[in-house]
Amino acid sequence: MSKVFIVDIARCTGCYNCQLVCKDEHCGNDWSPYAKAQPMTGQFWAKVEQKTVGSIPKVKVNYTPTFCNHCKNAPCLAAAENGAVYRRDDGLIIIDPEKAAGQKQLVDSCPYGAIYWNEALSLPQKCTGCAHLLDNGTAVPRCVEACPTDALIFGEESDLKEQLAGAATLRPELGLAPQVYYRHLPGQFIGGTVYDPEEEEIIEGAKCRLLSGGKTWIDYSDDFGDFWFKDLPEGKFSLVITAKGYKDVNIEDISTIGDCVSLGDIPMEKK
Ligand code: SF4
Ligand code: SF4
Ligand code: SF4
Repeated sequence: MSKVFIVDIARCTGCYNCQLVCKDEHCGNDWSPYAKAQPMTGQFWAKVEQKTVGSIPKVKVNYTPTFCNHCKNAPCLAAAENGAVYRRDDGLIIIDPEKAAGQKQLVDSCPYGAIYWNEALSLPQKCTGCAHLLDNGTAVPRCVEACPTDALIFGEESDLKEQLAGAATLRPELGLAPQVYYRHLPGQFIGGTVYDPEEEEIIEGAKCRLLSGGKTWIDYSDDFGDFWFKDLPEGKFSLVITAKGYKDVNIEDISTIGDCVSLGDIPMEKK
């Protein structure tokens, strides 16, 4: 038996409900032996990461809800003394609030930053998967139940094969086998607008060819002269723009490493 979370980024509107209800469930509520109360400030067991990518005029805001990943190869478990972190039969990773007292090293053991330090209680704390609810017959954690767009799914891994197909995890290079999966994680984008400086008009239907590592992506400028390549990997690209009656435009060394790219207004000279 192994429970998984699935987050569908395409359905997430960034409403922060998951973050709020986690607070409602755990702040001021001592659910020992699962967890002691989460403090009112400073901890986000469910955290919606907001990232603005690109630059004016091509800007996008991405929302990524994050939680403890309940990793199969959990370094927090290895870093715990006295069995203070354990894996349940359903796969959820729990910090024992009695045994973990004083074990501040657990905070640094999690490369996802999912463990917080409760100074008042001298206790590391994190998402419990709402195990206290599951053990009392509730089908899903509070955050999942509260998501208005069904962007969050929780259930048996074996029952969710279809939804898990093609899903990714955060930072897979760490090799921790996270049990929180993501669908439709946004890739990088490159966008711009082509125009004729002489006529002071945008150019519609310009063919934009993006090249990187032997791969080619094609888009055509729309009614506003805009082209927009979405869901690109991080890397270096070159762009060739062609339009009937105009000289070709070549732009080299476009990097999507670390951010999306707005190329702004691109003039095309008449032949
Ligand atoms: S509640 Fe659902 S839609 Fe709202 S931020 Fe969380 S995952 Fe996204
Ligand atoms: S995300 Fe961090 S706290 Fe959660 S199981 Fe993995 S290593 Fe442990
Ligand atoms: S599963 Fe429960 S503890 Fe974990 S983030 Fe969701 S509401 Fe918070």
